[in-house]
Amino acid sequence: MPDADCPGAQLCYLNASGEPCPSGSSCFCRWPDQSRWKGVTQHEAGHQQSSLGMGLTVNADEHYTFECTSGSCDGITDVETGDLSIRQRSRMTIAHASTSPLPMDLHCIQSAERYGSALDEGFGHFTSARANNWQVNPQTGNTETDCTFSYYKEVLSPDLFGLQCGTDVACTSTPRRDMPSGVKAYPPQGINCDAASNWRDSQCGNQGVLSSFATELDFLQFFWSVHAQGLQAERLSMDDIYSTFRATCSGACRPCAGEKLRWASIEDTTPKDVRSLNDGAQAYLSASKLTRFAQQALAHGITPPPSP
Ligand SMILES: [Zn+2]
Repeated sequence: MPDADCPGAQLCYLNASGEPCPSGSSCFCRWPDQSRWKGVTQHEAGHQQSSLGMGLTVNADEHYTFECTSGSCDGITDVETGDLSIRQRSRMTIAHASTSPLPMDLHCIQSAERYGSALDEGFGHFTSARANNWQVNPQTGNTETDCTFSYYKEVLSPDLFGLQCGTDVACTSTPRRDMPSGVKAYPPQGINCDAASNWRDSQCGNQGVLSSFATELDFLQFFWSVHAQGLQAERLSMDDIYSTFRATCSGACRPCAGEKLRWASIEDTTPKDVRSLNDGAQAYLSASKLTRFAQQALAHGITPPPSP
């Protein structure tokens, strides 16, 4: 396709090299300057920081993708834990181009993802949020707890964030190739990281396979809430966060050793294969910090669903 066929200010590039693409099936639409946006750079730096501070949280071979064995092959089947239906997945995930698969549509801030993947990406967003939101105003000396994260991909249903299309954000009414209706907003978009959207529980569901899944948005807001909100004595410093994960993973998280992160251990699995964030928090955090950590985890939809 030519540049004129791309939505918004996107241009047409070759998938492999990123060079301009005049036409053909290897062309795809992308934002020309996206990789230089500060939110992207800070997010990637967050991956480096978490790698140093607590090890790697995600197995490369189970990062975002799902093996598709039948149907439309839109990435439906989780080979580890079972089926995730098209309808469930469509409500949570957006595709960023209507033509070809992109590396960037593997995961989105509202996607239900495997626990470690959502945690890993949410921590990247959290790193960007920390870089752009001060906790003590340097001019007044007043403490602040509000937070805005500048997200660098499209967002599904911006109205659910209180944003009006055409007024607050630019939108399109073609959210993805397999959804007949809905709205997505073009990036960048400010996301409230000081809120508790509880996106998994409120928009994705938390039963069946989804009970062990999480979203990047929920982890972003969870990390901000335990680090920058609440009573000072109950807040987790960055060292507290890293130390909690090191306690979870017996020194450092090591996905190459087959470890998987979850909130709680899962019965009938080898103990060393599943590391429990809840166990790590109980091993490391002081009582007051632990109480709030657990409360916020529940409020942000990163625990298994509470019993009815
Ligand atoms: Zn990332």
